[in-house]
Amino acid sequence: MKEVLVISGKGGTGKTSIVGSFAHLAKSKIMVDCDVDASDLHLLLSPTTVEEHEFRSGVKARVETDKCSACGMCEEICQFDAVTMADTAEIHQLSCEGCGVCAHFCPEEAIVLEENHCGTWYISDTEYGPLVHSQLFAGEENSGKLVSHIKNQARQLAEKTNTELILIDGSPGVGCPVIASLSNVDLVLVVTEPSQSGKHDLERILELAAHFKVPVVICINKWDLHPELSDEIELLAQELDIEVLGKIPFDPVVIDCQIQGVPVTSSETSLAAYPIRNLWEKLEKRIDTLQQQGIQSLN
Ligand code: SF4
Ligand code: SF4
Repeated sequence: MKEVLVISGKGGTGKTSIVGSFAHLAKSKIMVDCDVDASDLHLLLSPTTVEEHEFRSGVKARVETDKCSACGMCEEICQFDAVTMADTAEIHQLSCEGCGVCAHFCPEEAIVLEENHCGTWYISDTEYGPLVHSQLFAGEENSGKLVSHIKNQARQLAEKTNTELILIDGSPGVGCPVIASLSNVDLVLVVTEPSQSGKHDLERILELAAHFKVPVVICINKWDLHPELSDEIELLAQELDIEVLGKIPFDPVVIDCQIQGVPVTSSETSLAAYPIRNLWEKLEKRIDTLQQQGIQSLN
């Protein structure tokens, strides 16, 4: 089984449109949306939910109001300003860090620590195969854990269904969810665009991938919007011995496809469709090579 991760240094590079097209083109795969803070792959793939599960992580404090004597101790000692006093103490769930100090010192033992329900994850069916995805509730900060969790679920599903490829739509940036999505992947495709910020973000993400020693290839999306900067990105890639596997032109039809909720490669009028197909074919060859190497190392 091989895991291919598609990431970008920042949002808005067209990463999800490219993953949606790969979902359309790849024969047998399980897709995972690891962009848990702003998941949108489902908008392109129109999934039907098969399984729905609560995601719980960490703890939060809750007051059992019938026991509370309103002494005010918890409000005084909470370092996170999570408690206010009315007739009884009230704990604001978004501010509570679950440190447990209030529960420890409450004279009435009126505070309990409960597992935090911070999101929902799903296994869904799509026209193109199974999709593992999730929704993190607003203000929750467990995105790295949720990414690890849904990736594990996708691996279990791939083993159960004998699926050889896991296709992962990662988060933008270089934060916790990206680090979690990089773990144990076999190949990373970084989608960048020709702008100064795009180039800067690409450099940061290449450093991160190098740290994790993951093989990387690059795709320059909307390359023709700034051909000189595209050349600079190609030069940078050459210096780092990283292949630019594809260059995709700007194409307004991509936005139409997003609005209609269909993969770009299903459009007959898209200028970007052919370069994306070409990119997928090259990526597929890389995956095949990795699979062959894996088989040989087992023999
Ligand atoms: S410390 Fe306990 S008893 Fe005192 S206000 Fe807080 S919850 Fe109520
Ligand atoms: S668990 Fe910690 S952060 Fe939460 S209310 Fe109690 S003292 Fe404050």
